[in-house]
Amino acid sequence: MKKLLVLGATGSIGTHTVDLVRVNPDCFELCGVSAYSNKSKLMAILDEFKSIRDVWFKAHDQELIDKYPDIRFHFGPSGMEDIVNDTEYDLLVNVISGFSGFIPTYLALKRKKKVALANKESLVIGGDLINRLLKENGDTLIPIDSEHSAISMCLRGFDKDDVRKLILTASGGSFRDLSREQLKDVTVKDALKHPTWSMGSKITIDSATMMNKGFEVIEAHYLFDMDYDKIDTVLHKESIIHSFVQYKDGSTLALMDNPDMHNPIALALADPKIMDRYDQSS
Ligand code: NDP
Ligand code: MG
Repeated sequence: MKKLLVLGATGSIGTHTVDLVRVNPDCFELCGVSAYSNKSKLMAILDEFKSIRDVWFKAHDQELIDKYPDIRFHFGPSGMEDIVNDTEYDLLVNVISGFSGFIPTYLALKRKKKVALANKESLVIGGDLINRLLKENGDTLIPIDSEHSAISMCLRGFDKDDVRKLILTASGGSFRDLSREQLKDVTVKDALKHPTWSMGSKITIDSATMMNKGFEVIEAHYLFDMDYDKIDTVLHKESIIHSFVQYKDGSTLALMDNPDMHNPIALALADPKIMDRYDQSS
């Protein structure tokens, strides 16, 4: 039984994580969660999972305190430090979006906790600091991002020194088939219609601009300690191959799966084991 602190539980990846806990009650227990603005979804999670003891919310909220007297609430920036530093959990699942995810990643690793990381921004802004901690405290960072999850699977059992290249696949986002001329008229609403993935709004916009792939190259550089000239990207519109590892002997390993984030999250939660699929029919 792993005790999970899920930060960003109300988001897209957070919801997928909660799904996995729901169908694997013998493997995982939700002991803490956070939400930023979606109070009704937070309350639905608290009503369902009676194991939750600690909760973070963006600002003081008396209604939450009154409604859930057995739960310890942590509010605002200092509350985020408290929930990461002072509560009991086996694995921090950091699925917050944006730069606010860095502090929890950093503090949990400093505390020698394992971290399952979707928040790529943690590595984009603080990769050097994080890798320094990992060197001192042991390798306890597990990627959730689908490309990096795929790469870590393709590296299992092999020597990193034998790698020639990491090749990250890119769906190309909502505007992948448009000409420069057509791009002049696009709207935010158009950008939010991703052709293959269903994700939160920030990453969907970052996919449309291809900024997300830039972040992911940086993420791969830090996660796998790989020089930038050994990391390539390739357009793969179907989003079935989640990334490749090319070895020096010419062989290439790839991980193939449906574009469903339940799968990389499940790999990260169960790490180092592999558990039954979330959805057996897919
Ligand atoms: P969402 O926008 O769907 O969810 C973000 C979560 O973070 C919500 O729980 C939100 O709370 C919370 N949050 C937002 N702002 C803050 C803040 N300032 N402080 C604390 N919590 C905050 O994002 P996604 O689930 O799509 O993405 C989460 C992370 O995972 C991102 O870094 C993204 O790049 C990465 N990722 C996502 C993938 C996907 O398929 N969605 C795939 C691979 C990586 P609330 O909703 O209550 O406001
Ligand atoms: Mg990705």
